[in-house]
Amino acid sequence: MGIEVSLIFGLLGLIIGSFLNVVIYRLPKGESIVFPGSHCTTCGHHLRPWELIPILSFLFLRGRCSMCKTKISWRYPLLELLNGVLYFYATWLNDTGSILQLVINLYFLSTLLVLAGIDWDTYRLPDMFTLPLLVIGIVTGFVLPHGPLGWESLGTALGVGGVFWLIAWYYPEGMGLGDVKLIAGLGAFLGVPEIFIALFIASFVGSIVGLIMISFQMKTFRDQIPFGPYLVLGAWIAFFWGEKLIAVYTTIVS
Ligand SMILES: [Zn+2]
Repeated sequence: MGIEVSLIFGLLGLIIGSFLNVVIYRLPKGESIVFPGSHCTTCGHHLRPWELIPILSFLFLRGRCSMCKTKISWRYPLLELLNGVLYFYATWLNDTGSILQLVINLYFLSTLLVLAGIDWDTYRLPDMFTLPLLVIGIVTGFVLPHGPLGWESLGTALGVGGVFWLIAWYYPEGMGLGDVKLIAGLGAFLGVPEIFIALFIASFVGSIVGLIMISFQMKTFRDQIPFGPYLVLGAWIAFFWGEKLIAVYTTIVS
């Protein structure tokens, strides 16, 4: 789609990103995501409308609460920016002409962002996000003409979901059922061979980061290391550049 439309969706992505921060922060604690409104978690100061403007308010406040001056984590503006960039790029690349397909793609990208954030904080991938991802991935496969076709979507979800379910069965310390459900959902959305690109990148980057953290003694081999954020990274890369990576790979191999 055109640059203007992409920019509008990018701005929308920033605003939605600000809401996703609230979801990631409050949902695992069982708090309402609507009430109370956004506030400083240290002093309870309720954010004024201008303090809710994504990124700009963070820069203007120099990363501190306007009342108690407690530092605000860099993660909030970073996540807003990331969601905005994802929306911009997904809209820019959307050559299907279908707004519904675009909305489904944006839902896919944002749900992954929320899952990565929650898994990072809590080592959990809640069913309330992974299961709808799986169902919507399969249903859109049958209903919408773009992306993997219905049977491919269903088959990929069952195939990779089944294999990783077996891994989780025999090796529960290494992989949780949340990971399995997420992988099945990614399979439904990405199809073959994109899902394999996502899994390869996730395992590769996850192992490297894990080894770095262990060698710097930030983690030990016994520590839990969340796999979700790496799956999400792999899925984004496969979603945006899967076809190009396959083309590069086949020219190298042949
Ligand atoms: Zn404060």
